[in-house]
Amino acid sequence: MCGIVGYIGCQQAYPILIKGLHRLEYRGYDSAGVALLDPNGKLNIYKSRGKVSDLERFCESKDISGTLGIAHTRWATHGEPNDINAHPHFNESGSLALVHNGTIENYAVLREALEEQGCVFRSQTDTEVLVQLIDYIRRSSGCTLLEALREALKQVVGAYAIALIDAEDPDTLLAARRSSPLVVGVGKDETFIGSDASPIIEFTNQVVYLRDDEIAIISRHKPLQIIDANNHNTEVDIQTLRLSVAQLEKGGYPHFMLKEIYEQPNTLHDCIRGRIVDGCRVQLAGVQDNAERFLQARRVVIVACGTSWHAGLIGKRLLQELAGIPVTVEYASEFRYSKPLVGPEDVVIAISQSGETADTLAAIKMAKESGAFVYGICNVVGSSIARETNTGTYIHVGPEIGVASTKAFTGQVTVLAMLAVALGQLRGTLSTEEAAEIAADISRLPDLITEALQVDDIIKSLSSTYTYVHNFLYLGRGYNFPTALEGALKLKEISYIHAEGYPAAEMKHGPIALIDNELPTVFIAPNDDLHEKVISNIQQVKARGGSVIAIVTKGDTAIPAIADHVIEIPPVAECLSPIIAAIPLQLLAYHIAVMKGRDVDMPRNLAKSVTVE
Ligand code: GLU
Repeated sequence: MCGIVGYIGCQQAYPILIKGLHRLEYRGYDSAGVALLDPNGKLNIYKSRGKVSDLERFCESKDISGTLGIAHTRWATHGEPNDINAHPHFNESGSLALVHNGTIENYAVLREALEEQGCVFRSQTDTEVLVQLIDYIRRSSGCTLLEALREALKQVVGAYAIALIDAEDPDTLLAARRSSPLVVGVGKDETFIGSDASPIIEFTNQVVYLRDDEIAIISRHKPLQIIDANNHNTEVDIQTLRLSVAQLEKGGYPHFMLKEIYEQPNTLHDCIRGRIVDGCRVQLAGVQDNAERFLQARRVVIVACGTSWHAGLIGKRLLQELAGIPVTVEYASEFRYSKPLVGPEDVVIAISQSGETADTLAAIKMAKESGAFVYGICNVVGSSIARETNTGTYIHVGPEIGVASTKAFTGQVTVLAMLAVALGQLRGTLSTEEAAEIAADISRLPDLITEALQVDDIIKSLSSTYTYVHNFLYLGRGYNFPTALEGALKLKEISYIHAEGYPAAEMKHGPIALIDNELPTVFIAPNDDLHEKVISNIQQVKARGGSVIAIVTKGDTAIPAIADHVIEIPPVAECLSPIIAAIPLQLLAYHIAVMKGRDVDMPRNLAKSVTVE
């Protein structure tokens, strides 16, 4: 899940690379490094444990000249995060430097074989094997660097996005990918590469998304050339980005996460735009263009990871209730190693913010191989999932940089709600009036979120009461059981407080044993069909000395009479309540984490898009 940046052109590479690393730091931040080819043909490689700012400090007194360079911010998979394991990795003579995002699964076998040939390894990473292998092939066969790279990639099993530079060729930057993302930015007399477009957008909006098994030959004086696995030139498909630099900045907020929480009225507006027609009908191109597939669908299988999986659980209920289709929800990482028994009669819905989640991509591949129709729900336009699925819907919530997902979650659930209504219309399980009513409620979501955000100060002040607790329980029922899971995940991710999400009624089958005056419970308890039942669950907690924070619908009088703290959300249709209830849960996690002094946007051990297994 590392971030890769590269530059070749007339400008000094270092400032561009460092800025790019900062933009990509959400992808990994345990160590960072840069390789620069100086004007005398010397390859200078600087690496440092810690964040990109640590690398910058380390480079303060160093020679950072050069107009060709590559850089990396790491999220370790093989070898602890330290200076030596940081990228770039280099060959024995130090003439080749390589950065890598992904995992080389057969690295141990390759390493052993290279060691037998006398190669000396410095790091514990899988990545070093790749650069040593390229070097070995070139030395032993006398071939060009490009040929050695092609040959090495044939021997490698696993996932990679790589960039490679050679001290003996100051005019070339090579890049390649399989399963990990890589974007090439084409400027005037300069070319950029990045794990995503964020390091590039400031300089050019002309980009090429590299496809699996392609190699980009980026030369200072020649146009961009891309070859495929068979060494044939492929079309250089230049696309124009619609991203702006402002979308990548904090815009006055102390953290990206808070900015993204507050952006949600706008992001949901963008997500819904053009999809609800005449205020009463949902129109999704992916459904309209494939109506037959959806009409014939025997069942839907949702595959996703993390927060997207929680959105998927809500999607299950939506699709079953509104469209009458049986749905199962699978962790993509489990699905890919199971016998999922999907077939041509099934629709597989893959959900991922980045559109690059490795496990979800693998699940998509399996589903396609078994003939299923695959529908993608992702945020990043042009991402691998967007390309690999048969069709789908973008959530259009803009770049999400905070590692803890907020606006992507509400966007995903909103798209799933629109999908459920569209399918309900198509399959005749929803009457025109019913569909119009829910569609109208979906249109109101941006305003309801604006209203829900007004509780921020109340949440901030109650957060101080809970900063030092060690455990939290989150309970909800029906549509809001997954909301409870998501609330618990938010708190865990950024505050490092252990939190468990559970269906409220299941509490008595185990978690109730944990309740005492040191374990607060958050109840997601809007006015819905199960309201009375949740009230008795709250009573059970109170009877055991536990304190209760309850998310309730405005105007509720029963729960405020028994809960310790009450957070009100505006009334909304039950099937959309997770979208509104998520707002106070995001704010609660945020404020507790800030009060604990946590690095909210870059929590330890996590990375934003999980492009490794
Ligand atoms: N496997 C490489 C390492 O551990 C890259 C990891 C990644 O892309 O997240 O250094």
